[in-house]
Amino acid sequence: MNTPTSLSASAAPTFPVLSGRFADTFELPPLPYGVAALKSVISADTMRIHYGKHHKGYVDALNKLIPGTEFAGLTLEQIILASADGSEHEQVFHNAAQAWNHTFYWHSLTPHGGGEAGSALQPFIRTSFGDTAALKRELATAASNEFGSGWVWLVLDEDRLKVVKTDNAGNVLTRGLVPLLVIDVWEHAYYLDVLNRRADYVAGVLDKLLNWDFAAENLNGAIAQRRSGLL
Ligand code: MN
Repeated sequence: MNTPTSLSASAAPTFPVLSGRFADTFELPPLPYGVAALKSVISADTMRIHYGKHHKGYVDALNKLIPGTEFAGLTLEQIILASADGSEHEQVFHNAAQAWNHTFYWHSLTPHGGGEAGSALQPFIRTSFGDTAALKRELATAASNEFGSGWVWLVLDEDRLKVVKTDNAGNVLTRGLVPLLVIDVWEHAYYLDVLNRRADYVAGVLDKLLNWDFAAENLNGAIAQRRSGLL
């Protein structure tokens, strides 16, 4: 059995699209594809509202909350980590994490995704889950079990992959985990398309949209940072 490359620490990989430092405003990052590109599972109407109203709303709210506070001048990741504990900065955390989570979600999907994970992930998948089908079953179960709104993540925890859930705006960076992929399981992600049938939406994402290349980039980025002593 192949053993994954030994990893000893965990921290956030860097995402160029997300790592801007707050100056006057955070920008809503562009979608990596057109609004109809995922229509085999997610309609253009859902994309327009989810990206253009929900995601934009979190970015706009954050831009109103940050100026003149201790968070001005920080990166989005730094704001998430600095606002995560306690209720004092609850609104900052909710909007910062939702802004980050949605960008990560768009990149976790791709028009011709799904299928089998690529070779870079396979040793980790074998060690942690057995095979890609077992990993997908664990993602589907976590999505079904998430009560209310939240996110289902594939993460790197030390040198193993894990499936974890976060409620509401929760983000795994606050747990010291390296995010590889995320699935939005808020109702706004699927209700226009399949009403309350969350399992149908998740099955479509797993079969047709999951962006294994993005997961591999995040995994390789974390490994490279650890090897170079940056993490
Ligand atoms: Mn959402």
